[in-house]
Amino acid sequence: MSDPATDRQNLRAEKQKAAKARWARHAEAKADWQSMPLDEAKQHLAEMRADIELGAHIIQQRIGQETPVPHCVICNTEIKGLPAQTVPIRDHTTGLYTNEFYCSAECVVRKNQRQSGVLSLAR
Ligand SMILES: [Zn+2]
Repeated sequence: MSDPATDRQNLRAEKQKAAKARWARHAEAKADWQSMPLDEAKQHLAEMRADIELGAHIIQQRIGQETPVPHCVICNTEIKGLPAQTVPIRDHTTGLYTNEFYCSAECVVRKNQRQSGVLSLAR
């Protein structure tokens, strides 16, 4: 009898192995976009898109599993449900995003006051 958790781990490992193999092929083909036959280029693009969607799905799952419980940027309250507001912040050096979370409308107002209200003028 198979263990569902082991089956999921094996499936994930197989998917990751297949994704690595596909990316290796993509890396080899990286410089060929201009010269490779159009049908082949379209197939590579479709495979890359599928890999990116798979990667995005897996990363989103991992973020949910591996990221600690978020805290409000303003009052440092632990946010257990949906935050009142989530603001994605892009690191222009790496291109990666992090999120700032706000627990309540009051903290969102405080953030807005700090950024663009009277309090921002006091800095
Ligand atoms: Zn707060």
